[in-house]
Amino acid sequence: MAFNIVGSNIDQFEINGRHYKIEYRAGIQNPLRNDLESIIRVFCETEIAEKLPRITFVIERNKVNDAALAWIDTKEAKGGLKVIHLDAPSLQESHAKESNTSFTRYIVKALAHEASHLIREMISREITIKDLTQKRLSEHLAKSKKVDDHSQFSVILEVTRWWLHRFINDLHTEGFAEFNTGQIATRFDYNETYQDSLYRISKRKLLEIEALRTSLFSKFEEIQNPEKYKGRESDYFADLESLGKLVTNFTLKIRHNSYGIGEYMYYLINYHSKKEIDFVKIKVFKFIKKYEEIEISKNRKPIISLNSKQGYFDYNHTLAEWAAAVKVMRNRKKK
Ligand SMILES: [Zn+2]
Repeated sequence: MAFNIVGSNIDQFEINGRHYKIEYRAGIQNPLRNDLESIIRVFCETEIAEKLPRITFVIERNKVNDAALAWIDTKEAKGGLKVIHLDAPSLQESHAKESNTSFTRYIVKALAHEASHLIREMISREITIKDLTQKRLSEHLAKSKKVDDHSQFSVILEVTRWWLHRFINDLHTEGFAEFNTGQIATRFDYNETYQDSLYRISKRKLLEIEALRTSLFSKFEEIQNPEKYKGRESDYFADLESLGKLVTNFTLKIRHNSYGIGEYMYYLINYHSKKEIDFVKIKVFKFIKKYEEIEISKNRKPIISLNSKQGYFDYNHTLAEWAAAVKVMRNRKKK
């Protein structure tokens, strides 16, 4: 159990035969370093960490892209490495301003989230499959005669399609990570009142996405009406620009809201049919179907549905609407 100081930049320890390593690529001073090490050890004793035989925590000088406090490198994960990166400046900032409890909670949550992705990759190659499917979809969209040439409008349609797919996937993957995090850091209550409040919050989050989606899709129709722009081409370009802004807001909203909605979906399944389902292995469509089935059995409108059109958002129905917009574009070009 004790820390073996191998070098000043690497600390290693073992818990019940599982190996952990903390590698410092950024200098971190006490008391932060001591606090961080004890929090990491607390995390390594949780149920989530237990599922991974070894983890390396790398304390980085700087974060990559728009990552938050912690992230995983998909290349490393796909190669079987269990590495979680942490951003030193964010650690320092939060350590300086938060209480001990909230600092601990902040770190444990971030670690639980990233470890969940690593577990899914290890068991069901989640990251590999997600990358592959999105790559295939992108290639398909790029090649496909469906989305025609590379005019700006066509690109907007492609982006929309890509994000619809991403939305459903994020519910499945980020929802799982958030649910695991909630299990250890938030500790859900399993009763009707708590469940109803999560439902309401998730429904509101979905309706925010759906409102943008509806405006986006009605703009698709509007902008494809040639009558509207006769002799007023500049109006067309202004509309195209506002469509671009709309699609950006739509993708940002998906990115922001899908985590919480997905978390609620796992919570609900866990509450009502925990024993039948292996959350690590469940596939995306089965996950959505299972969720939908439970809401319906409770006489409640599902927030998301796959193809029954029962939900506030129905994936297949939305894809059909998207395909219809693409068809209008093709017919218009033929003329
Ligand atoms: Zn994530």
